[in-house]
Parts: sequence; structure tokens; C-alpha cells
Amino acid sequence: MSKFFPVSKPSLTKLETDFVTRAVESGWVSSMGEYVESFEAGFATFCGTQHAVSVSNGTVALHLILVALGIGRGDEVIVPDLSFIATANAVLTAGAQPVFADIDEETLCLSAASAERCLTSQTRAIMPVHLYGHPADMDAINALAKRHGLAVIEDAAEAHGAKIGERTTGSLGLCGAFSFYGNKNLTTGEGGMITTSDGALAERLRVLRDHAMSKTKRYWHEEMGFNYRITNLQAALGCAQLQRADELIGGRREICRWYGEELGQLAGVRLNRHASWATPCGWLACIEVEGLNDERRAVLIERLRKRGVDTRPYFYPMSRMPYLKAADTPVAHAVSERGLNLPTYIGLTRAEVAEISGVIREEMESVA
Ligand SMILES: *Cc1c(COP(=O)(O)O)cnc(C)c1O
Repeated sequence: MSKFFPVSKPSLTKLETDFVTRAVESGWVSSMGEYVESFEAGFATFCGTQHAVSVSNGTVALHLILVALGIGRGDEVIVPDLSFIATANAVLTAGAQPVFADIDEETLCLSAASAERCLTSQTRAIMPVHLYGHPADMDAINALAKRHGLAVIEDAAEAHGAKIGERTTGSLGLCGAFSFYGNKNLTTGEGGMITTSDGALAERLRVLRDHAMSKTKRYWHEEMGFNYRITNLQAALGCAQLQRADELIGGRREICRWYGEELGQLAGVRLNRHASWATPCGWLACIEVEGLNDERRAVLIERLRKRGVDTRPYFYPMSRMPYLKAADTPVAHAVSERGLNLPTYIGLTRAEVAEISGVIREEMESVA
């Protein structure tokens, strides 16, 4: 059997093993411990925010933000239609309604113009997603939000270390939500983080993630909170990954560049977005093939898999899910059907990217 190239796998070294071992040996395996504090402090520095509040995963990071902002029943949150389903589910979990706006061809992220058309008297927040590691057009989105008094919540789950100018995702809105799932740029196995420079919001998030227990009276709860804490074991992993952030993010950017060299010149093919004002973080390599649809893409995915190349289809528009409201988002619908994510992980070599690209070129022709 020849080689198999997965879409994703984590990069774990002796540093991660050492830190986790130290956490185990310290006895602090639950949600207290020095790694939790240093992971939060380190991640705030990494994003350029005043605060970072760790949580159990990226989905609850989004949910906790909405609860902390008092967004719930009767409220609407504008989200881009093309995203991982957690974006919409977090809004529903808070009791609010996700409203699906279209995406921008230039970034694959929320279109500010489309978001503007979704505004109603019930709109409370805009939740742009930095899809596949490319930042959303935050200047336009922040300007729109400011005109209408809305909160901007970045879903930065796929965008650790992406930048607009000198500013990093997670610091571009009121607050940002990150995921450290195993396939993300930095991983803690499962885990999440909320970044913000709003001190009152950070404090509120800390209370709510810990059962909303009174600061002054133990086991007294003025309101309902949650157990959304991360563990010291996960944070130990996170501290090690954060030390290696340049390597982990730089490596992915380079892999995306290699795919560009290999496949970028092919007719009818479009690779990762890269707006002139943005520095993407290369979470996953993307390829869009003109003329592909869901059916033909499934055939292509199967053929590639048989030859050892794992790929993933782009997300479906969330508004297509049977339990969600349909939306008129033509760009999201069109892009979704012709996109694939390619193997993107630390350790993949230049020669392997060439090998994978050769297989893709051949199989693309066979389904054309
Ligand atoms: C991964 C992801 C999430 C959810 O993060 P989890 O840690 O898996 O809960 C949310 N939004 C987007 C866009 C994601 O890719």
C-alpha cells in the first residue's frame, strides 16, 4: 500500500509531551493550574488583546459570548452562510436566530453589503467567520456595525494568527472566538478561547464559564452559568503549541503557497483567496474547480482517496440544513459546490505537495 495523505493531522513534539507530563505530575489536572493562566496570558499577547478567557471548545466560546452580551430570544445575529455549522448552532443555543448573509468572492467570508441587506430591528450582532484562515473584510463590517450599534463577534476558529495589516484576528472586533480542535492551526485536543480588550466583558465571561458562582460567596449563584472551563492538561498542550505558533502557522502558509505553484496556473482552477490587504494563516489549502458540482465532486473525492489523497468538500451553506431557514445566498451556494480542501499539515514536504498535485491534475481531467 502506498502513502496516504490525510487532510489534516496535529503536529505534536517533545515539547507538548513535556508540558503535559509536567501538568500530570503537578496533580493539577482539572481547570485550575499554572498552564491555564499562562495559556490565557500568552494567547492574549499573541492576538494583541488585553484579555483571553479559555473555554472548553470553540462552539461554547461563541455561545458564552452571546450570553455575556445578553443576546438571546427575539434577537437576530447575522452570520455568513458558508461556515462550519457551529457558527449557526451557537446562535441557536443562545436562543437567538442566525440570519444568513452571502459571502464575498474575494475572501469567501461575510459580505458587508449582503449583511447590510439582512439588518432588521431585531439585529443585535454580526458574526463574521475568517473562513479557511482568510480574514473577513473587518473594516467594512466594523463600519456597518458602528452605524447600527451592533456587536461584532469574530468567529476566528479557523484563523489563529491571520492578520489585517499589523492586527491579528481576535482583536478586530469586540471579541473573538477560537477553537483548538485537533485539526486547527493550534490544538489542545478540544479547547477554545475568547479574546477581547473589553475588561468588563472578560470578567463577565469568566463568571459565566464557571457556573456564575458569586465572587464573594461560595456556592451562591445569582444567575444560571455554565461549566465551560478548559483543563490544565489541555492548556499545557496549548502552551507548547503557542510557543511553536510561528512554525505551525508559517508552515501552513508555505504549503498553501506550494499548492499555488503546482496548481495555480491550471485553467478553471482557483486556489486559496489572498486579498491584497490580508495575511491569511493558511489553515487549509483550498481548490475550486470550475464546473464541479456536488455529485461530480463526490466522484473526484473518491478517486483521489483511492490514490491516497484525502480531501474534504467545502462546507455546505448552513441555510441548506433542514432545520435552518433557507436563504438567498447565490455566491455561497455556487462556491460551496466547487470547492475542496487539500492535505495541509506540518511535516508535508514540497515533494509530497508536488506528488499530491500530480494526482489531482490527473483525476481532475478524468471527471471533467
Ligand atoms: C471548528 C470551528 C468551530 C467550532 O470549534 P469547536 O472547538 O470544534 O467547537 C466554530 N466555527 C468554525 C468556523 C470552526 O471551523
